[in-house]
Amino acid sequence: MQSIQALIRDVADFPKPGIVFRDVTPLLADAGGFARCIDALAEPWQGSQVQAVCGIESRGFIFGAALAQKLHAGFVPLRKPGKLPPPLVSVDYQLEYGSDRLQARSDALKPGERTLIVDDVLATGGTLEAARTLVERLGGELVGASVLIELAGLGGRARWRGPARLHALLSY
Ligand code: AMP
Repeated sequence: MQSIQALIRDVADFPKPGIVFRDVTPLLADAGGFARCIDALAEPWQGSQVQAVCGIESRGFIFGAALAQKLHAGFVPLRKPGKLPPPLVSVDYQLEYGSDRLQARSDALKPGERTLIVDDVLATGGTLEAARTLVERLGGELVGASVLIELAGLGGRARWRGPARLHALLSY
């Protein structure tokens, strides 16, 4: 895990003062590191019969699509507004300043489809909570969520209610 962490670049004061941005692009560019990362992300879900992986735009697409392949599951993009044609299901959620929206095709999941949500970073947990609501509205059965990095000091895990597992590969 140390070797994966070493490939993540910390960028102070980006995109705004006070934020330490976790830049995963050096990890993605490292063939061995990226492969090890996907193996490690997949490991806790082997045997969980995941049928669909929902990746959150945009870095969740990269990790989610690779993870879907590894788990022999389909991939569903959860997108920001204005990207997908109708018919759609949408969930609005609050950011520190303002709000945002996640959308998916209204028939993106089959009823009861066993679904894993994937993103790169868990911070305050608002994005993951919105993704979870979206999966529920789409009729999927939530198996859990997987993130590469949990920023434990921001308390996002506390917003993850219910029995579905939340797995983080790295905790900062
Ligand atoms: P939150 O809703 O606060 O949990 O924020 C999670 C979303 O914001 C994820 O989609 C991340 O890609 C992004 N994010 C939040 N904080 C950071 C950070 N420090 N570095 C990189 N991405 C972040």
